[in-house]
Amino acid sequence: MTVEKQELLYTGKAKNVYLTNDDNLVWVEYMNQATAGNGAKKAEIAGKGELNNQITSKIFEILTKHGVHSHFVRQLSDTEQLIKRVAIIPLEVVVRNVAAGSFTKRLGIEEGTQLRHPIVEFYFKEDALDDPFINDAHVELLEIATPQEIEFLKRSALRVNEELIKMFQEIGIRLIDFKLEYGRTHDGDILLADEISPDTCRLWDINTNEHLDKDVFRRDLGDIVPVYQEVLNRLNDKF
Ligand code: UDP
Repeated sequence: MTVEKQELLYTGKAKNVYLTNDDNLVWVEYMNQATAGNGAKKAEIAGKGELNNQITSKIFEILTKHGVHSHFVRQLSDTEQLIKRVAIIPLEVVVRNVAAGSFTKRLGIEEGTQLRHPIVEFYFKEDALDDPFINDAHVELLEIATPQEIEFLKRSALRVNEELIKMFQEIGIRLIDFKLEYGRTHDGDILLADEISPDTCRLWDINTNEHLDKDVFRRDLGDIVPVYQEVLNRLNDKF
């Protein structure tokens, strides 16, 4: 059966999601909107949607090859992907290898400090509350996930971290931290979902420490398009 795009299901900050003629699949379109600080800072950046779609597609393909299952089915065009339909679990699962961003402020650890081992954190995805940092007990209390599911999410995020560290190292990039999202399928399976791109990862050039990620936008360091293009070019050259 040929998959056909149907009506709009949902509009997010940077993506539109459409139903298809298959109940288990949705059609996602990456847009050019950039936001930071829970939408406090906003801009339309031509070319950003394409870059994030292509980078995410490539990374999910690489993860799939290494046995990490995700919602990704295939890239449809420069800005579109076919993905499995899941109900997103309202958690941002953040993995940190090196201190940066909110972590440095919360703990007073200098940006760039290598952590002895990776750390997994949960944030409650709730715009009205500004996505607060929460712990396992809160996740359980809010009935977001069971204790078994919490353990699964942590193990999965650390596994993804191992794969991503290796992948980025091969293209001269140090993986500082990143955010993952997970979703539940109709059958109740939990799958890695959303995107993995310079919007959701901190990526530093191994040799120069140059920021190759959204911090260029958050911190007004310049134009993100050539920076994201550089990440895509390195991925395409190597994989
Ligand atoms: N992150 C994200 N979306 C968010 C918040 C964070 O993708 O809404 C990513 C961010 O790009 C970084 C990591 O998660 O790679 C950790 O972010 P942090 O908690 O340091 O927050 P920030 O300093 O970016 O506000």
